[in-house]
Amino acid sequence: MSRAPARVGVVGAGIVGLAVARAVQTSRPATAVTVLDKEPGVALHQSGRNSGVVHAGVYYPPGSAKARLCLRGRGLLRELCERHGIAYEACGKLVVATGPGELDRLAELERRARLNGVPGLRRVGPAEMAEIEPHATGVAGLHSPATAIVDYADVARVLAAEVVGAGGEVRLGWPVTAIARRGAEVVVGSGREEAVVDRLVVCAGLQADLVARMAGDGHDPVILAFRGEYHRLRPGREHLVRALVYPVPDPAYPFLGVHFTRRVRGGVDVGPNAVLALAREGYRRAGFDAGELARIAATPGFWRLARRHWRVGLEELRTSLSTAAFVDRARRYIPELGVRDVEPAPAGVRAQALARDGSLVDDFVLGGDETVVTVRNAPSPAATSALAIAEEIVARLLGMAQQGRGP
Ligand SMILES: Cc1cc2nc3c(=O)[nH]c(=O)nc-3n(C[C@H](O)[C@H](O)[C@H](O)COP(=O)(O)OP(=O)(O)OC[C@H]3O[C@@H](n4cnc5c(N)ncnc54)[C@H](O)[C@@H]3O)c2cc1C
Repeated sequence: MSRAPARVGVVGAGIVGLAVARAVQTSRPATAVTVLDKEPGVALHQSGRNSGVVHAGVYYPPGSAKARLCLRGRGLLRELCERHGIAYEACGKLVVATGPGELDRLAELERRARLNGVPGLRRVGPAEMAEIEPHATGVAGLHSPATAIVDYADVARVLAAEVVGAGGEVRLGWPVTAIARRGAEVVVGSGREEAVVDRLVVCAGLQADLVARMAGDGHDPVILAFRGEYHRLRPGREHLVRALVYPVPDPAYPFLGVHFTRRVRGGVDVGPNAVLALAREGYRRAGFDAGELARIAATPGFWRLARRHWRVGLEELRTSLSTAAFVDRARRYIPELGVRDVEPAPAGVRAQALARDGSLVDDFVLGGDETVVTVRNAPSPAATSALAIAEEIVARLLGMAQQGRGP
């Protein structure tokens, strides 16, 4: 085991960065921990703008970091919520196959889920589906009763309070603009200010590749930002969905498809779609950043992706431009849904890593070295998995990594 670092810095006060900060304090209480974030509050990007689903491990290839860390993360998250009185509701999820053409994919999903050890999983037919979700229709389904809902911003706020309570610092309004090595130290700069640490972890979400490169990490994978737009069921129509209703996902894409999500504070959201955003934090359709556009255009992997998947990209754009198209897609699962049953809800933007060959990177990816660890890909279910991802990063950072088990 290497010498314990006296000072650890974390870039990013999203759920992953805060979980890492907390895990460092738990395993090395004497370490001075500083979390640095450019925003005035915690969880203002992905961690505060997502579906709020605690995944049970249904989708992920057995043996992947996602499969392993989602299962462990869910358990740790549930304990944390219990300990702090954070609302956590195991409302269950129904994955719906709408026609015979989807049955093979549903069977593959079931196979994966069983290998992953998803608790309580059941294959259900139309009659049972009607008991679980009376307004959903399909030819077959998978029911995962352990899938839950939570507000990840609540979780992030509790983690930040724990970090501060244990003597750490969460420095907000502190955009990291430079990272340099000075001997064994790492100097993190924000304009004229600096923070000097012995180890640094970069958990910068939508800016992950840009901040990692400041630290001398490689160019790839790059981040593409995909806006996920939601609608919300209008009051009076919320009875259409009891808990969580999901499509059978297309394995060619890392996104799960438009679904229905009951929120832990009430209300039901429909979405998100996945539209390429022309700004890293492009929450609005009109959001546009010339620099980001130039970066996308100069990325060879992007053109490979576009050649392969332009049809799907256009279809996603159609659901962005037309509420009727959006509702049409969702109506496949809840046929009673009409355009007048929904109203717009705030969007989120996903950070999705793109490899040089034009493939969207499915699994979690860490980069960096022994001094600076960079989180290069932490898409869904990284909120569910955050506490387990943090354990692995801390093991690596503090020289306790298990051979061959890193994400
Ligand atoms: C629409 C949507 C739905 C999702 N649904 C789910 C779900 O239901 N369940 C699930 O498990 N996961 C879900 N996810 C994924 C999940 O939200 C993310 O994987 C997770 O929040 C990633 O956390 P993070 O801390 O890595 O990133 P973020 O929460 O994005 O945090 C990164 C932080 O880094 C900061 N930062 C960036 N650059 C700098 C800089 N230069 N200097 C200082 N600070 C910087 C940002 O301000 C930000 O606070 C969803 C994501 C989206 C977008």
